[in-house]
Amino acid sequence: MNRKGLLQSGAFLVWVFVLAVAAPAQQEDAYRGLRAGLIEEIRADVKLTSERIGRARLTDRVLQAMLKVPRHEFVPDRLRPYAYENRPLPIGFGQTISQPYIVAVMTDLMDASEDATVLEVGTGSGYQAAVLAECVKQVYSIEIIEELGREAAERLERLGYRNVEVRTGDGYYGWKEKAPFDAIMVTAAASHIPPPLIEQLKPGGRMIIPIGSAFMTQHLMLVEKDPGSKIKTRQLLPVAFVPLTGGH
Ligand code: SAM
Repeated sequence: MNRKGLLQSGAFLVWVFVLAVAAPAQQEDAYRGLRAGLIEEIRADVKLTSERIGRARLTDRVLQAMLKVPRHEFVPDRLRPYAYENRPLPIGFGQTISQPYIVAVMTDLMDASEDATVLEVGTGSGYQAAVLAECVKQVYSIEIIEELGREAAERLERLGYRNVEVRTGDGYYGWKEKAPFDAIMVTAAASHIPPPLIEQLKPGGRMIIPIGSAFMTQHLMLVEKDPGSKIKTRQLLPVAFVPLTGGH
């Protein structure tokens, strides 16, 4: 078994032990310990990919958010032992909660300030929305699968996130009533950058979006709208996301 495999099986054993014998407060401590280990993995992966993503480290604000958000609350119960492994996990309806490294990098690349209002397309479990909510003032998130959106909204409410609003709909068209946004993040792969999202991005704003089809290489793209509303795009990392669906 390689080092990563050993660490993962070690984390798994810690989790099993904690669930078997620990009181809730100790369980929370153990989860926090697992999150701290995950942060170290993310830091290392960021270093390895620094040329592609254009930065050698992530901001403390993003890393603190990753350390704080309880990912185990966003995965199905049977997958909780794997919640702090650095990989995507199934959340039902053929959808996934994204890999923590990708969540951290996409959040960081938005360069959104604490005062920012951001739009997320693809609520899924609500995990990414929670990480965003720790970093910015207001998050609007759209999910096309009604049940997933409802469950995510309830989960976020239960966990105390009051600055996230979730609605069901086709995020290709954005959320016109709440626009413009300081930053936009799309968490499903689109064949092209949706024009309504470009329209709803503030001048000076950034959008992070995976572009490509489900069966071909996808790339994470950074879209920048300059103060004169001119659009500049940059291809960053190869990624693998579920497709952006809907009628567009
Ligand atoms: N951000 C999510 C999280 O933290 O769990 C993971 C997102 S998952 C990779 C992609 C999500 O995008 C799925 O829940 C899927 O149903 C949703 N989706 C796909 N097409 C969509 C669309 N046109 N509008 C809104 N959501 C869409």
